[in-house]
Amino acid sequence: MKVVIVGGVAGGASCAARLRRLDENAEIVMVEKGPYVSYANCGLPYYVGGVIEKESSLLVASEQMFKVMFGIDVRTNCEAVSISAKDKTVELRDVESGEITVEPYDKLVLSPGAASVHPPLPGIDSPGIFQVRTVPDVRKIREWIEGGTTYLTGMSNYSGIQMVKPARRAVVVGGGFIGLEMAENLIHIGFEVTVLQRLPQILGPLDPEFAVTVEEFIKARGVKLELNDGAAAFEQLDSGAIKVKTDSGKEHLADIVILAIGVRPDTALAKTADLEIGERGGIRVDDQMHTSDPDIFAVGDVIEVKDFGTGEWSLVALAGPANRQGRIAADVICGRDSRFRGTQGTSIIGLFGGAAAWTGVSEKTLQRLGDSDYEKIYLYPNSHAGYYPGASMIGLKVLFRKSDGKLLGAQALGADGPAVDKRISALAMAIQMGATVYDLEEAELCYAPQFGSAKDPVNFAGMVAANILQGDMPVSHWDSMDDAFLLDVREPVELAVESVPGAVNIPLSQLRSRLAELPKEREIHIICRSAQRAYYATQLLQQHDFKASNISGGMLSRAMESMEKAK
Ligand SMILES: Cc1cc2nc3c(=O)[nH]c(=O)nc-3n(C[C@H](O)[C@H](O)[C@H](O)COP(=O)(O)OP(=O)(O)OC[C@H]3O[C@@H](n4cnc5c(N)ncnc54)[C@H](O)[C@@H]3O)c2cc1C
Repeated sequence: MKVVIVGGVAGGASCAARLRRLDENAEIVMVEKGPYVSYANCGLPYYVGGVIEKESSLLVASEQMFKVMFGIDVRTNCEAVSISAKDKTVELRDVESGEITVEPYDKLVLSPGAASVHPPLPGIDSPGIFQVRTVPDVRKIREWIEGGTTYLTGMSNYSGIQMVKPARRAVVVGGGFIGLEMAENLIHIGFEVTVLQRLPQILGPLDPEFAVTVEEFIKARGVKLELNDGAAAFEQLDSGAIKVKTDSGKEHLADIVILAIGVRPDTALAKTADLEIGERGGIRVDDQMHTSDPDIFAVGDVIEVKDFGTGEWSLVALAGPANRQGRIAADVICGRDSRFRGTQGTSIIGLFGGAAAWTGVSEKTLQRLGDSDYEKIYLYPNSHAGYYPGASMIGLKVLFRKSDGKLLGAQALGADGPAVDKRISALAMAIQMGATVYDLEEAELCYAPQFGSAKDPVNFAGMVAANILQGDMPVSHWDSMDDAFLLDVREPVELAVESVPGAVNIPLSQLRSRLAELPKEREIHIICRSAQRAYYATQLLQQHDFKASNISGGMLSRAMESMEKAK
C-alpha cells in the first residue's frame, strides 16, 4: 500500500508516524511545500518575543528523523499542485527547480492547513507587514526587528550627544489568539502595541463579559486596544514607518505590522479533485476522515468538523484536533474502526502570566440557536487553598442543561494560568464524556494545598449547579434585575467600597433578627461579594417562607457585567 500525505506539520506528520507504527510495509510519502516538517506553529509568537531563544527549538522533528526513524520518504520544498482522483495520482512541483513529477497513491491524506487571511487592502504587501504562520515568517519578523529600518534602530534620532531610541510601535491587526499572543510578545521586547479588532470583542469564542475582563487585563499591561475598528489601508512613509489607516478614519504609525486576521481552510488542492466542500468553506469529511472520494482523507485546519455541543459544522483551527484526526486517518487506512468525536473547541491563551480558557458551547451560541434550556453559574474560587501562599482568584462560568443537568460549556480566566488550565481541561473531559453537574459534584481531583482545594472549583461548580437544579438554591442574574427587590448581605464596610443603588443592606450576621424588614410578597434577590454568603441567606430566607434567590457571582459578576455595559 502506498500512502501520500500532503502537509508535514500537525495533522500530516502525526498521520505519517502513526501509519508507520501500524504498518511496517506501507510506502509512505509526505510532501511539504515549506522547508520544514513538524515545526511548532504554536511556539512562533514566543520566538518573536525571545521567550523561545533558538529558532531550532521550533523544529520538533526533522526531515532526517522521519526518514531514518520511520522510513518515511519526506520531501520538503515540494508542493502538491493537483490531484487526479480518477488515476489516483498527485502532481508534485519542486518549489526550488519548478520541476513537476507525478506520484501515484493508493490512499491520499490531505493536511494542508489553513492559509492566513490576506485581504486585498491598499499597501498590504509593504515592507514591515508580516503574517505569523511558518518558521520563515517569524525569522523575517525577527530580522526586521533586529536589523530593522532606520527608525527601528534609532539612527534618525542621533542627537550628537547621545543616541535616543524612540519607542518602537507595532500594530497588530486582529484580536484572536494569534494576534494577542503576538501583542504580548511585542510588548515583552519593548514595543508599544496597538491591537485593531474589527469586532466588538477580542477572542470570539468567549462570552462578552469574559472577553471584556481579558480586554481590561491586557490594557492594564500596556496593550492599546481599538475595538470595532479594522485596518483599511497601509502606507509606507519615507522614515520606513507604516501608516495604518482604519475603517473609522483613524491613523496609527507603526514600525511593524502583524496581520492576524484569521485563517481560511486551504482547499485549493482539494478543489482540483472536486472533493466536496462544506458550507463553512472546509473539506467535508465523515467521522473517519474520508472525503467525498473514498481513497482521499483530509484532516486538520482544512476540514469542517461537527461541533460536539451543537452538532453544527464548524471550522476549528487547533493543534489537538489536527493531531488526533491525523492519527484516526492512519488507523482507518490500516483497517481500524477509529472515529472522531467532534470538537468542543477547547482552547487556552496565556497572557502576561494569566490565562483565559474555554470549552464547549458559549452562552452567546446558545442564544443564537434560540436554545433556552440552559442555566449558567458564575463562581470565583481560589486557584488553590486560600491558606497556602499565592492563591489567586479564578473567574469561572459553567453552562448546563436545565432539564437534565448535562454540562454544555465552561469559560475561565485568572492570573494563575495553570490553575485555569486545570479546571477547563477537567471540564472539557467531563463534557466529552457526557457528564452532568451531578458528576462534577463527585469528581475526584488532585488536592494538596498548593494545587487546589479539598472541594475543588470543579466540585464546587457541580454543587452550586446541583443546588439550583434540585431547588435548594434559586438563582438569578444581573441581566434581569430591573425593578427587582435587592438585598445586600455584605458588611457596611464593603458597601463603602461599592454599593448597589436601591439595594437594602442587612448583613448576614443580622439577618435572622431583621426578617420583619423584608417583604413576603416579592422575590428577594440576594447580593454578596461572590454569592457564598448570599447562598446562606437564600437558604435562611427560604426556610422562613420568603421567595429568595441568589444572584450568581454576586458583586464579582456585576463587575464583569458593568465593564461590558460601559464599553
Ligand atoms: C502562530 C500560531 C500559533 C498557534 N497556537 C496554537 C495553540 O496555542 N494551540 C492550538 O491548539 N493551536 C494553535 N495553532 C493552530 C495549530 O497550529 C493548527 O491548528 C495546526 O497546526 C493545524 O494542523 P494542520 O496539519 O491542519 O496544518 P499545519 O500545521 O498548518 O500544516 C500544514 C502544512 O501543509 C503545508 N502545505 C499546504 N499546502 C500544501 C501543498 N499543496 N503541498 C505541500 N504542502 C502543503 C503547509 O506548508 C504547512 O506546513 C497556532 C497556529 C499558529 C499559526
